[in-house]
Amino acid sequence: MAIDATQPYDDSNIFARILRGEIPSKTVYDDEHALAFHDINPQAPTHILVIPKGAYVSWDDFSARASEAEIAGFVRAVGKVARDLGLVAPGYRLLANVGRDSHQEVPHLHVHLFAGRPLGPMLA
Ligand code: IMP
Repeated sequence: MAIDATQPYDDSNIFARILRGEIPSKTVYDDEHALAFHDINPQAPTHILVIPKGAYVSWDDFSARASEAEIAGFVRAVGKVARDLGLVAPGYRLLANVGRDSHQEVPHLHVHLFAGRPLGPMLA
């Protein structure tokens, strides 16, 4: 079910539980600011989720409240994941859903990284 992106952060969400190590994930990257792991229901041959370590509901919440260090660390981590996986030359797509109309389901900011096949034109 899609969430309301204006809701307060709820630390029982699945990605908070992954961050606390309560639920396993297929981790591909982990640093001070970000964790990246394989999506459980991949929509492309490579489908990674990159999440900040801090408690942010969505891109909106993150861009409004996160520190400069958190924002820089997270953005750099997303780029590093793609570079480390060798995705820059073939190319990749980033996507972040925010709230109801985008169908954001997990109320912890996550950037989807899709790659591994021609992804076609961007869909609105
Ligand atoms: P959203 O629609 O942008 O919120 O995307 C949520 C994503 O989280 C979906 O692509 C799900 O497949 C993925 N997901 C949900 N639970 C898990 C999990 O436990 N591990 C990895 N990915 C998950």
